[in-house]
Amino acid sequence: MTLPYPATYYAKTLTESRARPMLQGVEEADVIVVGGGLAGLVTALELARGGLKPLVLEAQAVGWGASGRNGGIVSPAFACGSEDIAARVGVEAARALHRLTIEGVDRVRGYIRELRIEGADPISGLLNLRRFDRADDLHAYAAEFAQDFGYELTYLDRAAIRERLVSDRYFHGLVDAQAFHIHPLNYLRGLASELERLGGRIFESSPAVQAHFSGAQKLVKTAQGEARGPRVVFATGGYTDGLVPRLKRAVLPIATYMMVSEVAPDLIASAIRTREAILDDRRASDYYRVIEGGNRLLWGGRITTRAASAAGVAQELRREMVGAFPQLAGLRTELSWSGQMGYARHLMPQVGMMEPGAWHITAFGGHGLNTTAVAGKVLAESILGESDRLAMFAGFGLDWAGGPLGLAAAQATYWKLQLQDWWRER
Ligand SMILES: Cc1cc2nc3c(=O)[nH]c(=O)nc-3n(C[C@H](O)[C@H](O)[C@H](O)COP(=O)(O)OP(=O)(O)OC[C@H]3O[C@@H](n4cnc5c(N)ncnc54)[C@H](O)[C@@H]3O)c2cc1C
Repeated sequence: MTLPYPATYYAKTLTESRARPMLQGVEEADVIVVGGGLAGLVTALELARGGLKPLVLEAQAVGWGASGRNGGIVSPAFACGSEDIAARVGVEAARALHRLTIEGVDRVRGYIRELRIEGADPISGLLNLRRFDRADDLHAYAAEFAQDFGYELTYLDRAAIRERLVSDRYFHGLVDAQAFHIHPLNYLRGLASELERLGGRIFESSPAVQAHFSGAQKLVKTAQGEARGPRVVFATGGYTDGLVPRLKRAVLPIATYMMVSEVAPDLIASAIRTREAILDDRRASDYYRVIEGGNRLLWGGRITTRAASAAGVAQELRREMVGAFPQLAGLRTELSWSGQMGYARHLMPQVGMMEPGAWHITAFGGHGLNTTAVAGKVLAESILGESDRLAMFAGFGLDWAGGPLGLAAAQATYWKLQLQDWWRER
């Protein structure tokens, strides 16, 4: 059976491509997890490590959603900026939450190492680069990080940047040597295999169409089967449908885009001479990294609130790429794709209990690799009765995201940020 993945670079370079069965008939489980992205799989894996037998229902194939199509950059922080988090929950709680995101980075590294996940290919280093000439606040930011979190960020001046990138675009930068980048779909499939090794079960091509979870016995129905058990977790990300109306109204689906180049190592090396990932400091940022040892360039950016043609948006990404690196004008784009992120109105993940025995873990936005790794762990700890760290997310509930008006507001905010970026760099 072929896996129903969209045509992404990651789906074309899987190290393992086993399809899983569809749910048929009645199956019992300790925990039913709806959604086979990273949020659902990390939660299920940590529950299985704690001795429970989870059952995952995935509408398509594990990692079909954002988790299997993203930029692969694993770095600390949430999609929401730390000042906004502090404004909502206070400075100390915001710091504790940030520490959690650093733990998330370590957890991803740990999973890949411990499970020897083939093809996850972690490569260290992230350059955060500035497109305008101001550095005093960068030094202050690095000093604050060192003091508050013992986390080292190293300043780069223009000359040091030029050793890595042959571009006039960037003025200053910070290197995060603890961050890294990976092949996200191979990573996720490694977690799925480990879950099964521990006795968890995964059903693919099995969209949940009904969920009853107010009683002690939870019931989730698919077209041809039903799962029953005392607990259920909803982890449907930016693909959240009407299954649980309370979740749907709390999550905005936002599309974002990626492209990968043809194989052209010499041409790429004429522009990019580092294996570190690069993220510019725009509020509507671009990010890129060379892959396959320098053979190809992977580039991501842009968001839209309505599905747009990935090939069309790739033209915009190409303009950005050639703007930064005119020498790459002849670099052909081989493939482009989009994926949906889930955003809450407050921009933070929503992780909590909806009813006794029913939890949600969603809305990781554009910063989901580290945050799913730690939020899934924290949720599993709560379900297993091992910690009360879940309370750290209590300030970020299932607020109404505003429906179509919320989407319009998100698009307007994005355009405003693009304008502000342009003004700063003018
Ligand atoms: C293009 C792109 C680039 C990104 N780059 C980065 C990056 O570099 N670094 C980073 O940290 N983050 C990045 N992100 C964000 C990150 O990928 C997400 O935050 C994270 O993967 C979300 O995981 P999730 O499990 O919540 O959602 P998903 O991975 O979307 O999983 C949800 C799953 O639920 C399933 N589902 C939905 N409804 C049902 C149903 N009724 N029944 C059964 N299954 C259902 C879907 O099929 C899907 O597989 C990026 C995202 C995108 C789209």
